[in-house]
Formats: sequence, C-alpha cells, structure tokens
Amino acid sequence: MVVNIKISTGAIILLLLVGLILLNYFVFIPTLEQVIDSRVLVNESVYVKKDVLDALNILYESHDTEWVTCGKGSINNVRKTTMITSLQATKILESTRHSALFNPCPDNTIVWIHNHPSGTCTYSPEDVFVFGTSKQPLMGVMCGKNRLAIYSQKTLRQGGLKVKVVK
Ligand SMILES: [Zn+2]
Repeated sequence: MVVNIKISTGAIILLLLVGLILLNYFVFIPTLEQVIDSRVLVNESVYVKKDVLDALNILYESHDTEWVTCGKGSINNVRKTTMITSLQATKILESTRHSALFNPCPDNTIVWIHNHPSGTCTYSPEDVFVFGTSKQPLMGVMCGKNRLAIYSQKTLRQGGLKVKVVK
C-alpha cells in the first residue's frame, strides 16, 4: 500500500513536469528570431503573435513610403507584459519616405506601429511628438524584416522594450 502511494505520487509529479514542459513549449517558446531594437532594452516584455509579425513583414516589404497600423491585444500590469494579437488598419491621408499623415489609432488599441523605410530603428523627434499626443501606451517602429522596435511612453528615453515572437 505504502509503495503504491509512493509510485502514484511520483507519477503525478512526473506528469506535472511533462505537462509544464509541453505548456512552455507551445505557449511561451519564442519562435524565429528575437526581434529587437539596437538600443538598450528595458525590463518590460512585449509578445507579438507570429501572424502579426508576418503581416508587418508583408507591409514592410511592399512599401517604400511610410505606413501606420494599430496593434490590439492585452496588457498584464502585474507581469509587466503586453501581448499584441491583431492589427487594425487606420486611414493614411498622406505618405512619403520620411513622414505620414494618418488618422489616430482607435482608443482600444495598444500600440501604433509605423515603418522606417530607411531601416533606422530609433524614433525621430516627430515620432516623440506624435507619441506624446497619442492615446496608445506603446509605439512600434518596423525597421526591417523581422525587426520591430517597441517603445513605451513611460520608458521612452531608456530604449526599446524586449520583443518576443510567439505562436
Ligand atoms: Zn518614425
């Protein structure tokens, strides 16, 4: 009887461990390249769904002028993590290689994302101004294929946030 209990406790622990490893594999393993900004990263994480990154890559590669799009998802204030799960288009009124005039992102979006066709990942003075007037807590700069820098209003001067791609 005693032996039986020991075995089943061991089996349960083993099952839990396997379960945790599987959960970790399917949910949290960052896929592909870790997408980063070239500056110092502050200690806050943004998880971007692979579908979202794929869509941003297509946008990036098909335009040589600036575009803007709005990212939706959820923010976990306790864990200091943000998940970007979908994109919502906003109207671009005018666009050149270095600037874009656009309708603001809807209030329920988390991040406004625009591209830098030049490949620079850092924000411009104009970006800081627009960011200051925007309702979104985050700003994304797409600066190459699989290269997405994300900044937060609170830690803008400290550099980009950690960006990870998830399934
Ligand atoms: Zn910019």
